[in-house]
Amino acid sequence: MLLLFQREEMGSLQILFVLLLSLFLAKCYSHEQQELLHCLSTYSESNITQNIYNPNSPTYTSILEYAQKNPRWWNSSHPIFIASPRTEAEIRPVILCSKKIGLQIKIKSGGHDYEGISFRSESPFVMLDLSNLNEIKIDLNEETAWVQAGATLGELYYAIAKRSKVHGFPGGVCFSVGTGGLISGGGLGSLTRKFGLAADNVVDARMMDVNGNILDREMNEDLFWAVRGGGGASFGVILAWKLKLVRVPEKVTIFSIHRKLNSSRDLLQKWENISHQLPENLFIRLLIQNGGVERQVELFFQSQYLGPVDELIPLLRQYFPEFDLERNDCFQENTTAGAVKRCYEVSWIQSAFYFYFRKITSPLEVLLDKTIPTQKHYYKGTSDFVKTPIPESGWEMIERTFLEEAGPRMILEPLGGKMNEISESETPFSHRKGNLYNIQYTVGWSDNSESISTQKMAWLRKLYKEMEPYVAKSPRTAYLNYRDLDFGTNQEDYSYSKAKMWGEKYFNGNFERLRSLLVLLSSPAIQVRSLTVFWVSNCQFCAIHISFSMVEVVDQDTSAPRIIDVGNPLYIHPFDSVGASLVPIPFDGVGYRSWRRGVLQSLS
Ligand SMILES: Cc1cc2nc3c(=O)[nH]c(=O)nc-3n(C[C@H](O)[C@H](O)[C@H](O)COP(=O)(O)OP(=O)(O)OC[C@H]3O[C@@H](n4cnc5c(N)ncnc54)[C@H](O)[C@@H]3O)c2cc1C
Repeated sequence: MLLLFQREEMGSLQILFVLLLSLFLAKCYSHEQQELLHCLSTYSESNITQNIYNPNSPTYTSILEYAQKNPRWWNSSHPIFIASPRTEAEIRPVILCSKKIGLQIKIKSGGHDYEGISFRSESPFVMLDLSNLNEIKIDLNEETAWVQAGATLGELYYAIAKRSKVHGFPGGVCFSVGTGGLISGGGLGSLTRKFGLAADNVVDARMMDVNGNILDREMNEDLFWAVRGGGGASFGVILAWKLKLVRVPEKVTIFSIHRKLNSSRDLLQKWENISHQLPENLFIRLLIQNGGVERQVELFFQSQYLGPVDELIPLLRQYFPEFDLERNDCFQENTTAGAVKRCYEVSWIQSAFYFYFRKITSPLEVLLDKTIPTQKHYYKGTSDFVKTPIPESGWEMIERTFLEEAGPRMILEPLGGKMNEISESETPFSHRKGNLYNIQYTVGWSDNSESISTQKMAWLRKLYKEMEPYVAKSPRTAYLNYRDLDFGTNQEDYSYSKAKMWGEKYFNGNFERLRSLLVLLSSPAIQVRSLTVFWVSNCQFCAIHISFSMVEVVDQDTSAPRIIDVGNPLYIHPFDSVGASLVPIPFDGVGYRSWRRGVLQSLS
């Protein structure tokens, strides 16, 4: 009797607890937040509910502040939740619950996206913050590394440098860039001419699709192709990359040469003509900036030779005697930062410090720095590829335009070498043979007021417009990793013809492969296996913007899986074994979510 009473009392207490919890949730959380929390709590095998932060959580703001490497959108949309999984298994409930409730997911690795698409959206969304998934396993026998996609480039370089002095990886320059975003968009850097892009050195990848399935290269070669330059977020959550490490000499030489643009036109044009044809071990990139009190346009040749000084000097005498670099210049004790020429013989990892403007004597730990900068730096960027040298009139225009603004920069990175040997269709990054160099344009500011940011962006747009005659045409191409939403978004218009305008800029002919064929779907032999692409609705900032229409299907005769594009605006419901049914759907945020709920209810 007492036991029964105690049980009844316990039961009432439990009901009371649930009631109080519901009241508490209702008071503190919106309907969508409650739904998400409830859904996540049903996945008892994962701890994700402990690693979820809402705007009231003390850590929410600091995670978001660290995420927003370009804080231009600080005052705009914020995630309704940040999910910071500590294990891969914790990602699955986030995907499945967001899908069920109709929330978008924004996948954030290093947070460097130029347009902030990893941490903002105009629809309610969850930010999947991968920065805790940063494990790196190096296998020196196989000369490979498994790298979780939340690891930064700095963490990868650190792990390599700790194990070997003669291995490196052709990543990029900035240590805090995430391997998730950088590699899935391509990955250009100082080793590109010798070894290709970061994406060219991926030998396998593990990713989670929209149904929470884990796929690797063997399971889906098409998808493996797509995520090596086609942008990751369109296809799923990349969990980890298997990278091929490359061999670097124990001694490499770094050097920089400063000049004024107006007195160095000949040198500039020479650089344009030969930098892509130099021996692969020699990489000379060019930064053009508007600096100093005199407000002059400056040229800064930032360079690396994969070998010792004694090999470099004769090469420079042959190709760039104008640099006037002598052996002695490379063994000076003290050279000042602004010196006209500087040169050092260092290890490969020290050359990474140099490219990122860190002291070459810095401890390795500088690669792991995760402090949030106290001074905010806002910027806008865009890009071009150049196929023929820019004529004198073009450089005059650049100099004139640069002198109108403070804080502009162009970074010119030579291609050629290994990049010429890789076919345009090998990966989605198609800018191979025939391209001399890539231009990255940026303009920065520290006061994000409406008037300043508008003025700065107008300046960049004007420069971009004026560059048109001098850069690759039909299409005018661009590099996905320097994303520019000025090319268009699918915010108002989901048509294929519109998506093609920016799709072909980034991917040329490979856009069609990414898009694949609608025709396949009309065949009864094709069955939808899973929706591999994220968040069918409102993906206005998706990497390739049309990607929400891509689905993974399996051919029932051959069992071969394929990625296809079903065209827009169509929707295939993402359930296994349900035949392909195409349904036009409302694409505005609210309409879509209620429509989706209806579909889910009718199918359950
Ligand atoms: C200071 C600076 C220096 C840079 N230097 C270089 C350079 O040297 N070379 C170069 O090539 N590029 C460079 N970039 C560009 C950079 O490669 C891109 O901005 C890249 O997308 C950043 O990746 P992230 O993971 O840091 O960014 P995020 O903003 O986290 O992600 C960028 C995109 O990738 C998606 N994404 C991220 N992780 C995953 C994942 N695990 N699965 C699926 N999708 C994912 C995001 O959703 C978003 O669409 C630089 C950018 C900056 C700001």
